[in-house]
Amino acid sequence: MQPKKNSILISLIHYPVYVLGPHERIVVWTQGCSIRCNGCISFHTWEFDQNKAMQIEDLALIIKQFPCKRLTISGGEPFDQPAPLLEFLKAIRKDFDDILIYSGYTIEKLQKKYPEHLSLIDALIDGPFMDGLESEWSYKGSENQRIFVFSENLKDDYDRWIQSKKNKTLQVIQKHEGIYIIGIPYQKDSEVIKNELLQSLSNL
Ligand code: SF4
Repeated sequence: MQPKKNSILISLIHYPVYVLGPHERIVVWTQGCSIRCNGCISFHTWEFDQNKAMQIEDLALIIKQFPCKRLTISGGEPFDQPAPLLEFLKAIRKDFDDILIYSGYTIEKLQKKYPEHLSLIDALIDGPFMDGLESEWSYKGSENQRIFVFSENLKDDYDRWIQSKKNKTLQVIQKHEGIYIIGIPYQKDSEVIKNELLQSLSNL
C-alpha cells in the first residue's frame, strides 16, 4: 500500500553510518517490502506501516541538516514506493555528491520500470537476498547481488571501498530507545544476531 500524497514510509534515519557505502554517510531506510526474501534479517521493515509516514519535504530537510553529502537509501524496498522515492530523489539530488540505493529488484527490472530514478542516483546494489548464497564481500548479503556505479567520478571511491572490505563490518547504534545493528552480516551469523546478540544488547 502506498503512503498518502507527498509522504513516504520511513523505518529509520541515521548519521553517521560507516558500513553501507564509501566513507561516512547518512542512511535512510524505507519501510515496507513486498519482496520478502527468505532469510532476510530486516523483516521488521516489511510491513507497509502507515504510522511510519513522513512528509517528503520534512525528510529532505532533516537529511540536508547533517554535515554529510553522501547518502545511502536502503529498506525495506525503496522501489516499492516508486512515486514518493522519485519525489524524494528530485528534492535532494542537487544537495548530495553521492547517492547509493540498495534494492531487492534487479537492475534489468529497474531500468525498464524506473529509468528516471536511476538517472538521479550514483550507484545501485541490486538483487534479492538469497539464503544459501553466502558472500564474503561486506557490501552484499548474498553472492548474486551486484554493484553498479553510474557516476564516473565516483568509480575509484567505490572500487577502494569494495576492495578494502572483504570482511563483514557491523555497526551498533542506540536510537529511539532501541538497539540497531547496521551493516550486512555473514549469513552464517544472522541467526545468532537475531536471536542472541540483539537480545543481550537490549539487556545492557
Ligand atoms: S528486498 Fe531487502 S528488505 Fe526486502 S526481504 Fe529482501 S533483503 Fe529483506
